[in-house]
Amino acid sequence: MLNKTGIPSTEDVKTVTPSQERLKKGPVAIIECFQKIPCNPCAEACKQGAILPLQDINDLPKMDFDKCNGCGVCLSRCPGLAIFVVDGSYSAEEAVVRIPYEYLPLPQEEEEVVGVDRAGKELGTFKVKKIQSGGSKNKTYTVWLAVPQELAMEVRGIRRGGIRHAG
Ligand code: SF4
Ligand code: SF4
Repeated sequence: MLNKTGIPSTEDVKTVTPSQERLKKGPVAIIECFQKIPCNPCAEACKQGAILPLQDINDLPKMDFDKCNGCGVCLSRCPGLAIFVVDGSYSAEEAVVRIPYEYLPLPQEEEEVVGVDRAGKELGTFKVKKIQSGGSKNKTYTVWLAVPQELAMEVRGIRRGGIRHAG
């Protein structure tokens, strides 16, 4: 259940988290969509059949992680900015988290930005590896952020302008 603030609980997140083994294999979509609303662009967008067909448009999307190739198309189509792609195979120390982003100006590649968790808590400064456009008609960009492996399932947003809160 979402708590009052709309932030998913640890239990919610567990239900959409792939195994460590799958995370280490390569990029995979993490769909953090926990409210039953009439919406299905993610399922329509996935050409790999990795998002199981919705029986009812209000159903929550369900993933077959083994079919997902981490292309990120669903991420850029989700109006709720609820989809992330995590690549645990990036390096021994770092994973790449791809984060939907709709603010301007965009960060630059190689810029250090603050990574925040689902509640907006600052987790450190991390390097932007890539900025990906969602296409000419799509205002959702994808920020590729390199983070320590242990934060791959924690960092879910970025903030520019440096750390504001020490500790
Ligand atoms: S990342 Fe690509 S393959 Fe994976 S669920 Fe999204 S659209 Fe499908
Ligand atoms: S497109 Fe986004 S908000 Fe809509 S059902 Fe899929 S994950 Fe949820």
